Amino acid sequence: MTIFSHPSFARHEHVSFIQDAATGLKAIIAIHSSRLGPALGGCRMHAYSTDDDALTDVLRLSESMSYKAALAGLPLGGGKSVIIGHPSTDKTPALLEAFGRAVEHLGGHYIVAEDAGTGAADMRIISRQTQHVTGLADPQRGTGDPSPNTAYGVFLGLQSAVQDRFGDTSLQGMQIAVQGLGHVGMRLCALLHEAGAQLWVADPLAERVRQAQERFSAHVSTPEQIHSTAVDVFTPCALGASINDHTLPELHAAVVAGAANNQLLRPEHGDLLRQRGILYAPDYVLNAGGLIDVFYQHGEFYSSTRVRAHIERIPTTLAKIFATAREQQMATNRVADRLAKTMLL
Ligand code: NAD
Repeated sequence: MTIFSHPSFARHEHVSFIQDAATGLKAIIAIHSSRLGPALGGCRMHAYSTDDDALTDVLRLSESMSYKAALAGLPLGGGKSVIIGHPSTDKTPALLEAFGRAVEHLGGHYIVAEDAGTGAADMRIISRQTQHVTGLADPQRGTGDPSPNTAYGVFLGLQSAVQDRFGDTSLQGMQIAVQGLGHVGMRLCALLHEAGAQLWVADPLAERVRQAQERFSAHVSTPEQIHSTAVDVFTPCALGASINDHTLPELHAAVVAGAANNQLLRPEHGDLLRQRGILYAPDYVLNAGGLIDVFYQHGEFYSSTRVRAHIERIPTTLAKIFATAREQQMATNRVADRLAKTMLL
């Protein structure tokens, strides 16, 4: 198969395959679009089963970064990178530096940030070789971790979906099932708990579940069953494709709104959610808070007030998508994609 006939190739502008024998680096950088600006996107490190899985992931993720940046009103294109390897056993400073050189080679067309399997400390190492990196810990800009702002944006977006579906933004007494208690999920639980929601949680890591029980009086479910809990809102904050042929018929929630990227296995799952009367808040609109954060971190004048003010525009974008979807009887993910694609023409 060539790259151009790959099922996830979406007229990407640029795809680099990087190999560095000295450090063992194998990576792919994909720039989907630079129509609105340089392509900013995270670097995911993962022990992919096959090279094709890595390629599929980076192509899909970089395409949705273009849409995310466009609908967040940022002057950014869409890009993403993957390093093939296990983050806890294969990651070395030399490997990250080799990756930094590959980013530098692209001359600023791609700006790297953290993603699953990488963090602020890794970005610091990458920055020895390139200035085209963001999400660095800095005394003025904090830890570099965008997750708190991702959680804040998801919280606001979830509220806006609840308002659309139930006619009230109040989360008091609202029953919400959160799948995944990582960087974003746990912080989101704190915001939801503070707003009076009643939580159900699941994570394969027992310690995280115990924490959520203790801090938020959360009810405990399992990773296999959390999607089918009888709640008002299902909130995927773990991996992608949590809405699929198997889980969709088992959903009881009236709203799906969470942080995870690529929640729908295929776009048709958005149509099926609509047919079932379930309101889906498109993931890349809802979870743009982290991108907004790293965009401002990369600029000269970072201010947390400015970041939060930008994130507070997410509910307005969502409200527009929900209204258009209703008027045109379309799935919300299709409306969001169409809107974003128009902005990229
Ligand atoms: P994370 O790795 O910190 O947390 C993910 C959590 O999900 C972990 O606790 C893991 O144990 C748990 N998990 C894995 N499989 C599960 C399952 N089957 N059921 C329940 N829990 C499961 O990741 P994160 O940074 O919190 O990000 C969560 C999601 O949000 C990811 O899809 C990520 O791509 C997306 N996202 C994150 C950010 C950010 O700023 N961190 C920004 C945008 C999107």
